[in-house]
Amino acid sequence: MDQSATKLWGECLDIIKNRVPDQTYETWFKPIKPVHVVEEKLTVEVPSQFFYEWIENHYKELLGSVLKQVTSNGMKLAYSVVFSEESETPVPPAARPKQPYSGGATNRRQQVDSYLNERYTFENFVQGDNNEFARAAALAIAEAPGGTSFNPLVIYGGVGLGKTHLAQAIGNKSLADRTARRVLYTSSEKFTLEFINSIKNNKTTEFSEQYRNVDLLLVDDVQFFQKKESTQEQFFHTFNALYQSGKQIVLTSDRAPKELSGMEERLLSRFQAGLIADIQPPDLETRIAILQHKAQEDGIEIGYDILEFLAANITSNVRELEGSLIRLLALSSLSNTDITIDLAKKVLRETIGKSFSNTVSIDDIQNTTGEVMGVTESEIIGKGRKMEVALARQVAMYLCRDMTSSSLKTIGLHFGGRDHSTVVHACKVIDEKMAEDSALRNQIKSIKHKIEISQF
Ligand code: ADP
Ligand code: MG
Repeated sequence: MDQSATKLWGECLDIIKNRVPDQTYETWFKPIKPVHVVEEKLTVEVPSQFFYEWIENHYKELLGSVLKQVTSNGMKLAYSVVFSEESETPVPPAARPKQPYSGGATNRRQQVDSYLNERYTFENFVQGDNNEFARAAALAIAEAPGGTSFNPLVIYGGVGLGKTHLAQAIGNKSLADRTARRVLYTSSEKFTLEFINSIKNNKTTEFSEQYRNVDLLLVDDVQFFQKKESTQEQFFHTFNALYQSGKQIVLTSDRAPKELSGMEERLLSRFQAGLIADIQPPDLETRIAILQHKAQEDGIEIGYDILEFLAANITSNVRELEGSLIRLLALSSLSNTDITIDLAKKVLRETIGKSFSNTVSIDDIQNTTGEVMGVTESEIIGKGRKMEVALARQVAMYLCRDMTSSSLKTIGLHFGGRDHSTVVHACKVIDEKMAEDSALRNQIKSIKHKIEISQF
């Protein structure tokens, strides 16, 4: 090493130290090694190509002005990049190449096991109003891990709503699109256990290496860090190391970060510094879409009304929703029977303990309405426009909306394949008529009563 280079660079560092934040200094300037001064050119060695690009993008002017100040003769700076596995450095966002990683000198490190389940992809994740924002944020991150201001991304929401799925989808997509090379998925429980083991086995260095050596770290269910102080401390350092080198962190939690008790304040404030996206329970339409997606994935034909029936009755949780479909299939193949509403009722009785013996069906309503209003069931379903038929039909539609959990679409389908807007119109007409026609009001009341008692 050249003495004059060492001296010169030392003077530069003294100035730089006072001009940039400590962490920046530690991360980006301390690792630089002076090599030599030749013909008014100071050559320094940087640990990697990314490192070089990052410096060029962010500190070119600073370095130029510092060098000018120190040498007063406009000395130039040149870089020499070393390619060694040990010194492989962070891939900061701005230094990230636009092209996918193509291998080569900086890509020699062995692929780590990511612990990802390949089933959890964006393609398999059904979008709904309940998860739209979280999904969009997740997608943005998968496209440029560490390259957005969403760092960390915290996805939170209740049990079985798709947090793990979404977190893993980020990992899978990043690897598939090569926006990240090293992805690691873990749960906070696993992290805790491994940390404890590493202490026991004197392997804490290996432990922290493993977690700091990634481009994208996904940590599931961080609520399990609550009250585990030394693990939190360890995680805090891991978090900082990754964050400061522009690596992406994605966390999931079963509650909002601000509601995590038993967490160190500094860790919480880190969690809150990025983007927080919640997932809410899915609405009926989304639940149906999820079931349709699952059925399709498994290559099974199953009636829309049955899917809707399941979706209408399992409201809180996608995992249960999935479970009900699987059970329904199992039951159908075990008992060698078709998948029917009755079988679905049986499944629901078993899974959520709900009894459906008194569930009103569209058929019951059409039947009883026809009976009371003096028209046949086939007339109700048919195309006839006679006034009393049309009225009975509208009343039956109205009652279907009132007494069943079927969607307007399904109701329409059961009325000779009519459109859902026809059902909407019928309900509106009956609402209006009932407001001024007490005879109709009473008639509808008695139809309802009759349907209800027929259920017992
Ligand atoms: P969490 O981690 O929030 O408890 P998971 O991610 O484990 O929930 O989701 C539970 C199950 O529901 C998984 O099998 C997942 O694939 C599925 N799931 C959840 N949300 C969706 C969705 N929007 N589209 C498709 N499947 C979903
Ligand atoms: Mg989960």
